[in-house]
Amino acid sequence: MTLPIADPWYDTCHIAPNIWLITEPRVHPIFSANMHLVTGRDADLLIDSGMGIAPLRPVVDKLRGDAKKPLILLSSHTHVDHIGAAHEFETRLVHPVEAEEQAAPSPYSLVSADIPAPLAAMFVEAGYAPLWEYLVDAVPYGGYDLAAYEIKPAPATGTVEDGDIIDLGDWQAEVLHLPGHSPGQLGLWHGESGTLFGGDAVYDGPLIYDGAGMSIDDYAATLKRLRALSVEVVHGGHDPAFGRARLHEMIDDYLALWGKSG
Ligand SMILES: [Zn+2]
Repeated sequence: MTLPIADPWYDTCHIAPNIWLITEPRVHPIFSANMHLVTGRDADLLIDSGMGIAPLRPVVDKLRGDAKKPLILLSSHTHVDHIGAAHEFETRLVHPVEAEEQAAPSPYSLVSADIPAPLAAMFVEAGYAPLWEYLVDAVPYGGYDLAAYEIKPAPATGTVEDGDIIDLGDWQAEVLHLPGHSPGQLGLWHGESGTLFGGDAVYDGPLIYDGAGMSIDDYAATLKRLRALSVEVVHGGHDPAFGRARLHEMIDDYLALWGKSG
């Protein structure tokens, strides 16, 4: 099967004065993650780096305009769809409990038949469409070898923990440790604007919470913590942004589903 070419590979969208959303529309919705670029006075911040199917760095540098300004990559967690292009960035932050995975990522394939059947079944059970033949329905350029896809090691150059501050000079956000979806899941909280970058701890689509390394008990505690924040807007690790009412509705639904409402 020959897949069509999608060039450019990435979609970019200016969603706030200092925030860009970068997506990979030709990746299957299960693996099509959001990347957020926050530009600041002294430094810029990229949250997550997608699947690593096409070069990401040139896209990010074009958006931020000043390729010489320091750029921090924060990996919200180390699932394949969030760390693929991490090796293209010099400053790489992750939570300590996932540093090992970022240094030596588990191998991954773009051939859907290579995805373990229980994992594929779990995605569908959660509410996603069944996987396509490949995890993409296009390639970024002619001659792209789907079989040669690999996640390159990108050891963290630093780690961040709950309560740490990411400081871009004129924009500061607090690191939140939000375990559940993964043990070292991170979010970012910009209290001044009520903006939450939720990673995969919360996004407006079927949450994945019962796979390897996941904990419903931790997830319930995380969601309760997020419900207490004065959130105006959530930029999640997948799917479009949403507001406080939707956040509360989702959290209440999941806590009820898990029997953790109390
Ligand atoms: Zn994930």
